[in-house]
Amino acid sequence: QIAPATRMTGLPAQFFAALVGKANAQAAKGRDVINLGQGNPDRPTPPHIVEALREAAPNPLYHKYPPFSGFPFLKQAVARRYKEDYGVDLDPEKEVAILFGGKTGLIEISQCLLNPGDVCLVPDPGYPDYWSGVALAGGVMEYMPLLEGNGFLPDYGAIPAGVADKAKLMFINYPNNPTGATAGSDFYASTVEFAAKHGIVVASDFAYGAIGFDGKAPVSFLQTPGAKEVGVEFYTLSKTYNMAGWRVGFALGNPEVVSLINLIQDHYYCSLFGGIQAAAAAALTGPQQCVAELTAAYESRREALFAAMDEIGWESRKPSGSFFCWLPVPKGFTSASFADRVLEQADVVLAPGVGFGTHGEGYVRLGLLASEDRLAEAIHRIGKLGLFG
Ligand code: PLP
Repeated sequence: QIAPATRMTGLPAQFFAALVGKANAQAAKGRDVINLGQGNPDRPTPPHIVEALREAAPNPLYHKYPPFSGFPFLKQAVARRYKEDYGVDLDPEKEVAILFGGKTGLIEISQCLLNPGDVCLVPDPGYPDYWSGVALAGGVMEYMPLLEGNGFLPDYGAIPAGVADKAKLMFINYPNNPTGATAGSDFYASTVEFAAKHGIVVASDFAYGAIGFDGKAPVSFLQTPGAKEVGVEFYTLSKTYNMAGWRVGFALGNPEVVSLINLIQDHYYCSLFGGIQAAAAAALTGPQQCVAELTAAYESRREALFAAMDEIGWESRKPSGSFFCWLPVPKGFTSASFADRVLEQADVVLAPGVGFGTHGEGYVRLGLLASEDRLAEAIHRIGKLGLFG
């Protein structure tokens, strides 16, 4: 019998692994399953980025170990993109860390900053990987409820001073997974003030930074005066350029935190395959029309989905960013019992809200990750169950 280390016993099973298992079991029965449960972009990576990898692959430069913290050209490329898109200045060598997907940095930052017993503030509902990092570091989580009445923003005034003073790290995430909410510059200004007052490092997860609807581009935390003094932003190519399988992300901002993350990355990964770094730079420096097209496609899908929801009498607020819709479950159901019913009887996969935290109860998360027709079909199938209206 193998005895795992205690740090492993606090680690929950990967939430989406269970969801994928259920969806596959349903499909194995020969059913036409519409999977809107996972956050995996369904569209391909733009061809000019794939071509950049094809060109880079034979280059012997990329067959050796890359420089430990990654190629300077990629750090320069992301710094230029932030300057162009957000007007933020970043020193490519001191304020940029290249990550094996944003996810690794979100986990490593807890290991960089938390001693066992240290407090970390996490959003509830929130992206489950924040918890895994805190659990691996032996930290203690204090949840910040994200309530619909407060636009799914945390209420810093409601956090007891005793808790805030003990906290060393906090996660925020806008455009938000799972609620689809976005945050404005006022919220970020209050975050910087709160963090500075209590000596907390801010980890702003900007995974959906490219996806804002109704003509409103998402605001970056780093645009806030004083942001770099208190925190870093996690940025990833996964959603912006449909590159989830390529595993490229960044930590940007506070040089001390960036240096800690680089140190831990040097030990774990020795950076990403050089050819991927070349293609990532091509994504960041090449034509950006693909990003505008992607956002427009998600917005059209949102409209198609909500039109179908109207028809069946399923009322909800629309997301203002990300590609997730956070939908209330009908009376008499929990988030899990509703998701199970919909999977079994309508062959549609939705993520139960409780998987994102106790304040996720009462909701399911639906990803805009299928064509407009398939999204409408999913809603019509759910409508036939007769649970709404
Ligand atoms: N943060 C959030 C909120 C996400 O939803 C995801 C992916 O689904 C990530 C971070 C991680 O992205 P990646 O590791 O692909 O860069």
